Amino acid sequence: MKDLKGKTVLVTGATAGIGRETAKLFAQLGCRLILTGRRDSRLISLKKELEQDYESAVFIHAFDISSRPACERFFDSIPGDFRNIDILVNNAGVGRGMDKLHQGDIDDWEEMIDTNVKGLLYITRLIVPEMVNRNSGHIINLGSIAGLEVYPGGNIYCATKHAIHAISQALRMELVDTPLRVTEIEPGMVETEFSVGRFHGDREKAEKVYWGLDPLTGSDIADLIVFAASRPAHVQINEVIVMPTAQATATISHRKD
Ligand code: NAP
Repeated sequence: MKDLKGKTVLVTGATAGIGRETAKLFAQLGCRLILTGRRDSRLISLKKELEQDYESAVFIHAFDISSRPACERFFDSIPGDFRNIDILVNNAGVGRGMDKLHQGDIDDWEEMIDTNVKGLLYITRLIVPEMVNRNSGHIINLGSIAGLEVYPGGNIYCATKHAIHAISQALRMELVDTPLRVTEIEPGMVETEFSVGRFHGDREKAEKVYWGLDPLTGSDIADLIVFAASRPAHVQINEVIVMPTAQATATISHRKD
């Protein structure tokens, strides 16, 4: 296992779920962290927690990743001692709505496309050139099984995750002549705030998603992200498809009564 101590890790969407658990795990391993998300108060309390628990160096910046100028302002604000980013975890993402496409809310579509696809691209375009210049870096994208299959009501969310799958593959091909690595993590059901957002704040509907089975947790996914990041330099984990044991595909799960 490669020692990650002292590495600088940027995690987008660190205010909740998978991103938050990933930030904690990298902090435990002695990494320096750049953490983003829109909810400033959560970033401030996470920074305090990581500083106290692990004596981590943490830089936080709250902004909306779907805004290109906001991404550029964020990039310009990164302090000098955090600028050599070793690991980029493109995690920020949303699911909005489960309507059939012909009945869908176009605002939902725009938020998913702008956050999951354009936001990931803006950040990648800002961070990766420096990695290429330094001949070192690892990009870890949060895809989904929704990037490999589709399901009714998943239409636009699945399209955004298919886009991340394509982007990850293209990036891996284009960086093959460099030491940079590209990993895509493709989870099934993970219990986070994701479903609450998907059902526009309806917690009862969100809880039903995980009813009768043991879903994955944010920390299960953080383990895989850190596993990929800590492989020796010649080992590139291309993709990790991971689901709860009681889930076989996006539409086939076994639920206990
Ligand atoms: P989550 O608990 O809802 O966390 C999402 C994170 O993304 C939050 O930190 C949120 O921060 C950030 N975010 C959302 N919109 C943003 C924006 N416009 N600007 C900046 N940050 C934004 O969901 P999660 O399950 O951890 O999801 C993380 C990633 O895993 C997503 O890409 C998701 O598609 C993927 N994934 C999730 C599952 C699942 O079942 N949960 C399965 C497969 C893949 P703020 O709200 O503070 O901005």
